Amino acid sequence: MRTLLFTHDDCLNHVTPEGHAEQVARMHAVRDALAPLDGLIRQEAPDVADEAILRVHPQSHLDAITGAAPASGIVQLDPDTFMSPGSLSAARRAAGAMVAAVDQVLTDQADRAFIAMRPPGHHAEKTTPMGFCLFGTVAIGAAHALAAHGLDRVAIVDFDVHHGNGTQDLIWDEERVLFISSHQMPLYPGTGAANETGAHGNVMNLPLPTGSDGAHMRRVYERDVLPALDAFAPQLILISAGFDAHARDPLAQLNWDESDYVWVTEALCALADKHCAGRVVSTLEGGYDLDALWASTAAHVKSLMGTTDD
Ligand SMILES: [Zn+2]
Repeated sequence: MRTLLFTHDDCLNHVTPEGHAEQVARMHAVRDALAPLDGLIRQEAPDVADEAILRVHPQSHLDAITGAAPASGIVQLDPDTFMSPGSLSAARRAAGAMVAAVDQVLTDQADRAFIAMRPPGHHAEKTTPMGFCLFGTVAIGAAHALAAHGLDRVAIVDFDVHHGNGTQDLIWDEERVLFISSHQMPLYPGTGAANETGAHGNVMNLPLPTGSDGAHMRRVYERDVLPALDAFAPQLILISAGFDAHARDPLAQLNWDESDYVWVTEALCALADKHCAGRVVSTLEGGYDLDALWASTAAHVKSLMGTTDD
């Protein structure tokens, strides 16, 4: 399995206020987790073309985020979302890595990719940065696969503990994208009820009860997620990989562990093997306990590589 790893030092220059959960130390944990993995094909995350952002966000949003970037200090965009001088480049390179990964996987230069970047992206709506997110990274990747590669069916699976409201907003009217989100409910941002199904039935939301564990998740995926993906027959699977459903995470109350991330990753990869020559591109979303993030990222990426040992 040829697996790409995209990262860039600019994501160390996206600085949030002291005590903020979405902190630079997360990226050190992720990089430490992935450093020992032989066989990853390591690439610098490139800047993104404006055209790729503008497939899912209007020009006004790109202009607003670009204009909000401070020359010094930290600015606050909403109660949770901040920008420092390095944030714009970090967010642009997260999206750029997504586009580059999609290009390489769809031109058979690689099979899988993991994007180890921050800020995350799945809460950013068309015109609203929120929940630590500036641009809809995974949706930008899906839109690129449709527009630049002519795909007809792209699946996005979001197992971050929070609902991917931004991704849902960006692909709501796009019948060529199936968006599936599992998430704790009730929890931030409050959306993601099962009756939110997209303009074409192309959105599937799976609220998980507070306190539920990995066994519960596996039943939900076996009953609902995997059959829906199988029926959709995706030509590419994208993953919003948040690791904040882990039992140790301070922002949520689900009880998954590393073995659950292995299980869900292997299940998604098996469907990719069946339908789309194994093509999977995964991008980091949340995960705020540094030890759990370290262990879960390693488990997830080893599973993408097909080298998991547990
Ligand atoms: Zn999250």
